[in-house]
Amino acid sequence: MRAYETRVDLLEVRLDWLRDWTVEDLEFLRDRPVLWTFRPVRQGGEFAGTDSERFEVLRQIGRRRLGQWVDVEWDVWPPLIMELRGYFKVLLSYHQYDGHLPPWPDLGELFRAKPHDAVKIALTLHRWADIVRFLDIVEACQAEGWDGVWVVMGPRGTWLRILTPWFGGLWTYASPEGTGRATADGQVSVEELRQVYRYPEMAPDHRIYGLLGDPVAHSVSPYIHNRLFQEVGLAAHYVPFAVDDLEAFLRVMRVLPLGGLSVTVPHKIAILRYLDDVEPAARDIGAVNTVVRREDRWVGANTDWVGFWRPLVRRFGVRSWRALIVGAGGAAHAVAYALRRAGCSFAVTNRTHAKAEALARRFGGTAVPWDAVNPGAFDLLIHTTPLGMAPHIDSLPPIPDAWLVGKVVYDLIYNPPETRLLRRARAVGARAVLSGLPMLAEQAAEQFRLWTLQTVRADDIVALAQAHLERQSETFNIFD
Ligand code: NAP
Repeated sequence: MRAYETRVDLLEVRLDWLRDWTVEDLEFLRDRPVLWTFRPVRQGGEFAGTDSERFEVLRQIGRRRLGQWVDVEWDVWPPLIMELRGYFKVLLSYHQYDGHLPPWPDLGELFRAKPHDAVKIALTLHRWADIVRFLDIVEACQAEGWDGVWVVMGPRGTWLRILTPWFGGLWTYASPEGTGRATADGQVSVEELRQVYRYPEMAPDHRIYGLLGDPVAHSVSPYIHNRLFQEVGLAAHYVPFAVDDLEAFLRVMRVLPLGGLSVTVPHKIAILRYLDDVEPAARDIGAVNTVVRREDRWVGANTDWVGFWRPLVRRFGVRSWRALIVGAGGAAHAVAYALRRAGCSFAVTNRTHAKAEALARRFGGTAVPWDAVNPGAFDLLIHTTPLGMAPHIDSLPPIPDAWLVGKVVYDLIYNPPETRLLRRARAVGARAVLSGLPMLAEQAAEQFRLWTLQTVRADDIVALAQAHLERQSETFNIFD
């Protein structure tokens, strides 16, 4: 507790999670900002006793004048709530863990019927369509003049936990660090909230940026872009948006001061039809990985192709490569575009041959079935499938050694920075190997430039990303 008191505004003590304690044991929290929560089993907590036992304990705590707030569930008898209000401010809470959204009239009636100083609505929601309706409920609570705490549990609600100040929330919940685990699904830790997202500095006129994809929970991008914003002194925050429904997502974004988005799987193509303009490279590639808000227009761009190309030029100068692209998905499209633009020739091979043919037709290359690849026909191999990517770091794409010997082998995967494929390529005598990490850094630098007109060094981004990936892999090792 002591470790947190200077870093949080309020400590929530889950009395129902404590074992073998007495009210005297809580004395050390005297004069500290505390919210007591003593959740019964019927409301998703761990206290199995009766309400009168529970309230007797809360009464004793109140008489000792410990703590400022108490969380009381909506189904508690009003006279008990009135009594507790003599000791604490009451946060009247409503929790729902089953993905169900209660109708506003019922919820409004329920909160109106019970005394409170603020309300808390915490719902597990899986669909953005429901998140939009949840935000309507938040607005309705505010129209009633109620202060509140608004929580969407689960990965789809992480962004809202971080951006609480934009929705007038009294506070947000963050988990204690050091455990690598959240105390609730989708929660970020106190350390992350403060150091990565700079929560204490947030103000509703700051710009918001984010990563649009699904899933996005393990992305390195928030660590990169938030640090860059901090380094150049911009009042902006970058958050993960795990989104299943673009239309619902964009409805919410229109009311936020959104500056731009990174876009990843599965929205890189689908986002196209919602944009006002699309830059020529993104149109040619057929995918957008960056959205920039220019006044009131939303513009789509693609920085993957620059990200792919620059590390090659930096390492080998401008060359007329003969390339083999392995895989024919979104990243392969950006690669083929870059190669064509630089006048290089390429062949493409893919598990689904029809996709290789479509890619070859679009960018002027040759589609080759896997077993017909001629190792003598290329000097650069570009691996663009996800095989070998964390957490499946032991996967190795079925690439014969003959395709690696004497070649430059470029794996677009950045996590881990050295994949099993690259280790194999080194072992059998590749001419050189290139990781996807510099590509990630270059595309992020370009993205940052499009959003802010500021230039940042890709090498600095590589260092940032590497440090984060190392920390992440330590956490995985402990808990997987
Ligand atoms: P994608 O659009 O889903 O394409 C995936 C490709 O991999 C498809 O061609 C797919 O073949 C193939 N594939 C998937 N599983 C396979 C398997 N088990 N065996 C053989 N082939 C398989 O994904 P993407 O957006 O192109 O991303 C691909 C990789 O590039 C990811 O690892 C991503 O992290 C990386 N990437 C890195 C950066 C960077 O900045 N470093 C940027 C973008 C992407 P089918 O056509 O047969 O399905």
